[in-house]
Amino acid sequence: MFKISDRIKKLPPYLFVEIDKAKRKARHEGRDIIDLGIGDPDQPTPAYIIERLYQASKDHSTHRYSLDQGLMELRQAIAHWYRVRFRVELDPDTEILPLIGSKEGIAHFPLAFLNEGDYSLIPDPCYPPYKGGTIIAGGNPYLMPLYESNAFLPDLSKIPLNILKKSKLAYFNYPNNPTAQTADKDFYQDVVKFATKNKIIVVSDLAYSEIAYDGYRPVSFLETQGAKDIAIEFHSLSKTYNMTGWRVGWACGNAELVSLLAKVKSNIDSGIFSAIQLAAAYALNGSQEQIRNMCNIYQERRDTLVQGLRSLGWQVTSPKATFYVWLKIPKLNKAIDSLKFSALLLEKADLVVTPGIGFGKYGEGYIRIALTVSTEKIKEAIIRLKKII
Ligand SMILES: *Cc1c(COP(=O)(O)O)cnc(C)c1O
Repeated sequence: MFKISDRIKKLPPYLFVEIDKAKRKARHEGRDIIDLGIGDPDQPTPAYIIERLYQASKDHSTHRYSLDQGLMELRQAIAHWYRVRFRVELDPDTEILPLIGSKEGIAHFPLAFLNEGDYSLIPDPCYPPYKGGTIIAGGNPYLMPLYESNAFLPDLSKIPLNILKKSKLAYFNYPNNPTAQTADKDFYQDVVKFATKNKIIVVSDLAYSEIAYDGYRPVSFLETQGAKDIAIEFHSLSKTYNMTGWRVGWACGNAELVSLLAKVKSNIDSGIFSAIQLAAAYALNGSQEQIRNMCNIYQERRDTLVQGLRSLGWQVTSPKATFYVWLKIPKLNKAIDSLKFSALLLEKADLVVTPGIGFGKYGEGYIRIALTVSTEKIKEAIIRLKKII
């Protein structure tokens, strides 16, 4: 009835219509679904953070519009946290911008840089807002395939020169959703060289830096020499402190990039509820003990899942970070795509997983399993899989 914009028409289609329908139907029938599809922590926000929110929300001064650039107290807490965690120095005045969750910042950022016809270099499979934000800004995604044979890192040398010339942004997300792959400093050093040479802005998404196992500590892109000249990094309290619903994250890095994102946002929103910002600052300044406890919980689930799948003869890489397992669909009697395989798991075993194709075409052939359910449920899921495979 209404004429929709070309940009909205270009957004990738929503592929999970059928699966969502089947899921609703299964729930409606009272079937005991185990949902391994959810990229959202199942554990609550630590009580001391909730308590800080409660106190702060009783102070009337938090009820008014907050400053666009975020409270100084939060920006200082972020600078402190980055210094302790990554040994990266950030100026709270110019190099940090609190966000209403990192997703909005990631999606709004291209509005500051892309003109019609410009490209963003985007890994595929990926977190969907990289493509969505690029398209809404009028740009074109150029997909950098992530292949298992290249450790799910993009091969920057494969990007054609004519694309490079029109590329303004390049996205990187390690630890990675959905592949659970991590990146090391050598790779990032190559990215800095590549981006500097081709005058491309690096967008690093570090949402999963604190979800890691076996003593592994993910690095920040900003630790790389020269990174701050060309990069903005997005981070979030969502996964680190089980705060997805609170909507608080931040962008940091190059001052000019941060200020241009702030300029876009000053036309769109009016900041984050101050009480949430104070609670976020409290979380970042306080003991990080809870993070370790949370990782121990995920690690036990990971081990249960990986051992269980291997006992079924599936080849699985045990992730070093994130709460996902990225699983190649096993060879069955006949080839089956990720949507059909996921539908089969739901129909025959009451298991919900995320089909790889939902993260882009190079995600085909895989499913993503999230470690956001209890070890008992994971054990039960393995028992169910055994019965049908
Ligand atoms: C969960 C997630 C985020 C965080 O999103 P928020 O908007 O901060 O809740 C960012 N990037 C990736 C890849 C994620 O999976």
